[in-house]
Amino acid sequence: MARYDYRCRVCDSSFEVRRGITEDAPASAVPCPAGHTETSRVFSAVAVSRGSSAPVGASVPMGGGGGCCGGACGCG
Ligand SMILES: [Zn+2]
Repeated sequence: MARYDYRCRVCDSSFEVRRGITEDAPASAVPCPAGHTETSRVFSAVAVSRGSSAPVGASVPMGGGGGCCGGACGCG
């Protein structure tokens, strides 16, 4: 089974349509449970969770207070 997500532009409700695996997504407007036909296909965001993988603390420029001899440890 394939599942297609739709959102109604009238009542702003999301619903899903299940189709056989050999069937394409419904080409025409799919009415929402309330009967509206102003619906649009919603593609599920599966491969979106990426982009925030910057290395933390890899090359942080030192200096300017905070580190040793910057006033925190009192060696200077
Ligand atoms: Zn609706």
